[in-house]
Amino acid sequence: MASKIRSIFQSINSKLKQFRRWQLTPAPVKPMSNHRHICLNCSHKYTGDFCPRCGQPASVKRLNAKTTTQGALDVWGMGSRSMPRAIFHLLFRPGYMIADYLHGHRQPYFPPFKMLFILTATAMLIAHVLPGTVSAIKGDSNAQVSSTDSVASVQADTTMLSGAIVSHEITKAAINPDSTSSSRTKDADEDLSAEEQAELNKVKGAVFNSVAGFSTFVDNIDKTNKPLSLLITQFFLTIGMYCFFRKSPRMGRLAFTEQFFGQVLMTSQLQVLSILYMLMTLQVRTDEDFALPSIIIVIVALIDFKQLYGFNWWKTIKKGALAMVVSFVFQVAFYLLGSGIYFVVKYAFQLES
Ligand SMILES: [Zn+2]
Repeated sequence: MASKIRSIFQSINSKLKQFRRWQLTPAPVKPMSNHRHICLNCSHKYTGDFCPRCGQPASVKRLNAKTTTQGALDVWGMGSRSMPRAIFHLLFRPGYMIADYLHGHRQPYFPPFKMLFILTATAMLIAHVLPGTVSAIKGDSNAQVSSTDSVASVQADTTMLSGAIVSHEITKAAINPDSTSSSRTKDADEDLSAEEQAELNKVKGAVFNSVAGFSTFVDNIDKTNKPLSLLITQFFLTIGMYCFFRKSPRMGRLAFTEQFFGQVLMTSQLQVLSILYMLMTLQVRTDEDFALPSIIIVIVALIDFKQLYGFNWWKTIKKGALAMVVSFVFQVAFYLLGSGIYFVVKYAFQLES
């Protein structure tokens, strides 16, 4: 009995070792054939996969149903260009695949930006088609499909209602600055003259409105151009990652752009996982970048960082957390700057006169 268990354990162990070896191996390159081709474009005779004179691939054949389908699928990354392969590698050896890509293994994988756009469009399509929608509820624990759970939908309504009240207050402040000063503000500003008071409230209203205005502007980008919004988020995450991961055991020194490409590939990976998660749970989130619960996103990101940068677990967690803090600070600064610009453009001159 004991020996049987031991042999099972050993076979699992050797399978795991094999998997680890495979994870560390870059995608294989097919051996070159000795077959002689005549280029259909320039009639040059050659051996190899591409015409050395004009660059047309040897795989180009006369048009038929098969090559036409292939051409149509190529546009969507399903043909001979390798989106399914890129997705497969992103699921099973994500960090190592990204490391290979940054080291120059470009040919086996689909271009990252195109892939992110296609995957985001697919995720949005699925989110649109699925019946259950979870939105405006914060925290994954109480995320429920609103069509089946009235409590969740009531919660959602309350959240939206309080949001509406806040924005109503802000609008009121902007339209009629004098009417909104609460008794508390009155006490604090007691020694101000009525005129100064009105002026102060006007400025307060304008500041509130600037912050709200810029937030709405950012929200609109998120609603109308999801891929762009994801890229902006990745830009801020890259700032944090650049502070703590630009020098690492596996990658040596990385440029900001390289790390940004790494983040874009990770976003594609999260988008694939979101699609799978939505299809499995039939749940959709419209208030977050991804349909996945936050805890899964954190675990996936840590696995990616560990594989890509090669720090030990403890360092990966510590540096990852610090990177998130830095990127958060930069995002807050971005909001403040944006609101400031909004304020200057929209209200500063108005207040002057
Ligand atoms: Zn040729």
